[in-house]
Amino acid sequence: REFSVRSEILDFDPYTPGLTIEQIRERYGLANVIKLASNENPLGASPVVQKVMAKNLDRIFRYPENNTPKLVTEISKHIGVPRESILVGNGSDEIIDMLFRMKARPGVSNVIGYEHSFAMYRMCAKLAGVEYREVKRGDPFELPLDKLAKAADENTAMVFVTSPDNPTGQAASVEDLSVLAGVLPKDCLLVVDEAYIDFVWPPESYTPVQAYDKFDNLVVLRTFSKAYGLAGLRVGYGILPPKLLGYLKNARIPFTVNLLAEEAAIAALNDDAFYNETLQVVMSGREYFMEALPKIGCKVYPSQANFVMFEPTKPAQTVFKSLLKKGIIVRPLGSFGLGKMIRVTIGTEAENKQFIKALGEVL
Ligand code: PMP
Repeated sequence: REFSVRSEILDFDPYTPGLTIEQIRERYGLANVIKLASNENPLGASPVVQKVMAKNLDRIFRYPENNTPKLVTEISKHIGVPRESILVGNGSDEIIDMLFRMKARPGVSNVIGYEHSFAMYRMCAKLAGVEYREVKRGDPFELPLDKLAKAADENTAMVFVTSPDNPTGQAASVEDLSVLAGVLPKDCLLVVDEAYIDFVWPPESYTPVQAYDKFDNLVVLRTFSKAYGLAGLRVGYGILPPKLLGYLKNARIPFTVNLLAEEAAIAALNDDAFYNETLQVVMSGREYFMEALPKIGCKVYPSQANFVMFEPTKPAQTVFKSLLKKGIIVRPLGSFGLGKMIRVTIGTEAENKQFIKALGEVL
């Protein structure tokens, strides 16, 4: 039976998540598969967090407290931003979706981001019925923030900057972001997506969060999916002007963040040992990739995130498929409009070595 749906979503480009370990095990009959495709935590799930979740299992017959007030308090203490400016979501994806639904007016607004950016922005723009303006990057993949400001007009609802950027790994400086926030049209939000901020050094040179109260148009997005190792639980948060946060809260679906996810995120925020070890593994793995990839002929781009982007000496799709047969899942960047490139997530030391060895064999 044909059902009628909103015509504008019929030519929709669906979001394509990375392949799973199970899919590749089954497809190639392999016992050992490693996934370096979705920028997940190389150390797996923290044992401390797992224990806390187990302890809370008998509470799951209850609804969670709406808007996760306990987690908001913990985040507030952790980052030094008042509770009134913090909104927790079912992944930062949910906050992105809420922003589009609340801030962008169908058929009127436009939203600006870089070309080759995280697919959610484009997807949400389409669903919200607003124009998505893609701004060209500098060479090689720099983030020329002034170009974003130039593309904005009185109907621009939001400008998205991913920093560090997915998939290039580049980060914008606090100074440049502050300048951009100051020159955007009156009604336009600057949304800085900091999914990978934990991996930059030093963080205070890159995050505008310390200045959250100096700007009334700044939104910062963060996630527990990467450095905190909770991708499967879906928890992220936004730091927003309190008034805007109030609007979003009023219009949101209740209970989107589940009870176990809230407890797990609180435990993860306080699990310094796991967090610090993650950073150490990621930063040393990043250095290793920066050295090892050029040695086998790949062009590698400097990264401040938990992944690196590189251009192999053979077509990216061929390399991707050959690696799959060897049980290694990486991310070819065709869906980002970067058909020649591959993004590889930094894994454990052993995974990184296995990847470089396999890549050397297929090139
Ligand atoms: N923003 C960027 C730039 C990302 O790469 C991701 C994860 N792929 C997200 C947001 C979404 O993160 P979450 O898991 O919190 O929804």
